Amino acid sequence: MKIPILQFKLVNVFCIEKSRIENWTKNNKLTKEMIDFAINKVGGKLAIRIFPRHMIKEVWNYDKPEESFHFKEYAFRAFANGDIITIFDDETEVPDSLFWILLHEVGHVLVTRTTALSEQFRPMQVNRTRYSDNENGPEEQFANLMADTWYKEFNGTPNSFHRLWWKQRIVG
Ligand SMILES: [Zn+2]
Repeated sequence: MKIPILQFKLVNVFCIEKSRIENWTKNNKLTKEMIDFAINKVGGKLAIRIFPRHMIKEVWNYDKPEESFHFKEYAFRAFANGDIITIFDDETEVPDSLFWILLHEVGHVLVTRTTALSEQFRPMQVNRTRYSDNENGPEEQFANLMADTWYKEFNGTPNSFHRLWWKQRIVG
């Protein structure tokens, strides 16, 4: 069943070097400068997809027809699978938080692309899909650290939009 996603209008798509960015939201919270900065941290060649959060189950079923969707409503914000980063956006995210999440996922891609990091964080499996719902694992801590570091490098001032920040947004 690969057709349903095509029923949504692709709002914005552009390419940077050998990376491709698809934005299926109307928000366009991420600027080209943000995305350019992020993909350069891992040498480019990334596919970044931004979907409205209400499409999360549909995207999951599209990507992983063999794995049924079994998550609670706000279980995760994004995931990285190989060279593909998928981010879900809604009113709980602001431009800076979406950028931070992108950097967090790029941190996972850095692990994937760095042998020494893969061996440290993923001794049992390589290229496994990573979800942002487990903030306690060592790789999640590493991805958070990289997101904080890169965010500060880009903006000049530190900020963090980790899970606790997001949970407070959800509770409202
Ligand atoms: Zn993560």
